[in-house]
Amino acid sequence: MSQTIYARVPDAVKEAADAYASAQGMTLASAVADLLDRGLQAAADARSVSELERRAAELASEVGTLRQRDLTISSAYQALAQRTSQPVGACPQCGKEVSGYDLLVTGRCPHDRCGTSLTPLLARSDEARAESKGGLDDGEFKMLLGALGLALGIAYLSQHAGGAIGGG
Ligand SMILES: [Zn+2]
Repeated sequence: MSQTIYARVPDAVKEAADAYASAQGMTLASAVADLLDRGLQAAADARSVSELERRAAELASEVGTLRQRDLTISSAYQALAQRTSQPVGACPQCGKEVSGYDLLVTGRCPHDRCGTSLTPLLARSDEARAESKGGLDDGEFKMLLGALGLALGIAYLSQHAGGAIGGG
């Protein structure tokens, strides 16, 4: 099936079409149909190429954002690990040093054959401290609060885009 298109074209286009037709051994009508078909294909390709380029740019920017977020989260994790590895007090049972990690995460004394619950360390009553059976001093307590703040910051960042975590 075919239809007819009547189109007025510049002299140069007509001459080029004639030249193409004779070079290909085609009639002018076949040459014009062939060239028009190729032109339409090229136009469609150009559109899909620019669509792909746009998508690639979008993805590249998304990757940049995620990398930045990953960096921020890793440095926050490092700061958190560093803070929670510091000693925050002594085990109420064996008297050996326990870290913020022991206190906040495992809740138990890490030393061999002890494993005592460290919960009493979190009870900051004056009696507990007077008995010197645990109880954190203000500095230790603030350090733990700082570590908790970092942990919250990391949790927040894993759910939201970029941004820096304060503290140091
Ligand atoms: Zn212990």
